[in-house]
Amino acid sequence: MHSGIEIGLASYAAIESGSLGRRYAEPASRYRGEYQRDRDRIVHSTAFRRLVYKTQVFVNHEGDLYRTRLTHSLEVAQIGRTVARALRLNESLTEAICLAHDLGHTPFGHAGQDSLNSCMRDYGGFEHNLQSLRVVDKLEAKYADFPGLNLTFETREGILKHCSARNARALGDIGKRFLERRQPGLEAQIADLADAIAYNNHDVDDGLRAKLLTLEQLREQSIVAREFEAVHARYPQLEDRRLIYEIIRRMINRIVTDLIENARSAIEEAGPETIEDVRARPAPLVALTDVVAAEHLALKQFLGENLYRHPTVKKMTDNARDMVQSLFGRYMTDPQEMPEEFSSRAARGDESAKARVVADYIAGMTDRFAIAEFERLT
Ligand code: MG
Repeated sequence: MHSGIEIGLASYAAIESGSLGRRYAEPASRYRGEYQRDRDRIVHSTAFRRLVYKTQVFVNHEGDLYRTRLTHSLEVAQIGRTVARALRLNESLTEAICLAHDLGHTPFGHAGQDSLNSCMRDYGGFEHNLQSLRVVDKLEAKYADFPGLNLTFETREGILKHCSARNARALGDIGKRFLERRQPGLEAQIADLADAIAYNNHDVDDGLRAKLLTLEQLREQSIVAREFEAVHARYPQLEDRRLIYEIIRRMINRIVTDLIENARSAIEEAGPETIEDVRARPAPLVALTDVVAAEHLALKQFLGENLYRHPTVKKMTDNARDMVQSLFGRYMTDPQEMPEEFSSRAARGDESAKARVVADYIAGMTDRFAIAEFERLT
């Protein structure tokens, strides 16, 4: 028991003594709490190290300063930790969920995920969020005693953000809440929003850096305009790069502050006593106020139209889609082109099981490895 780590936490925080545990029982660690161990296992995983070479929006080799999935995950984690600490929730658990949330992402960002999903249409589909859980439950081979990383229920609960009814039924205990319309713990709710806050803001920065967005365009967004006016009034001579950083810094601060304060009052009003009370709520307690949520959503839509579907980005994503598709077709025909551990697994099952092995293999690739494999095989 590591109650020392948990002193001062709210009664409705995730606490170890109330944990639903690991799938395979393990002795406690002498110096670390259970959620700390989860975080450490995630950081030591192969899938985590690969995130450095996986696309967020821009393909990894397009420039050294753009976000990758690794730096994105770190930004998500620091936002998540701030919120968790301010609300007296479990910071280690929040951090573990944030660091693991994108482990199942394919190469080439959403284009890669969409492409792999359509390749898998007849074999149960592909969903990166579900894949993240598959990575930590099954695919990481690190321990002598069990498959995967054997994480606690609460970390796994947080990783699985959404899930179809069909998948939820197949997943058993971890999928149950999607069928019963229950909520995950507050730490998981925080990680979910920290993800959206992180990408909305860093994609503004990356889009400006790539010159695919302009500040003039962005000023039509009220959430940007407000901070622009404030910074410009105080520092009229500020050079563009610093102006942009100052605006984004203030935007993150405003959104995170709104989230903390709004969640605090929602929790106060709902009055949960335990994490089970939180789970039984009809809706999440961690949310932005309506005004900020609307502005945040408008910014997300703006980025969708003007950055993610920008012709330059689209050219890259069309390319990525083709590469994933040809790789999938090629490994289905010639599974021996995959490394032994995958080809032997593929040989053991039916067509659908083989497709899942191929999807696991492709999903694990970094951008540059996928490009190299594509060049090797075509
Ligand atoms: Mg993410």
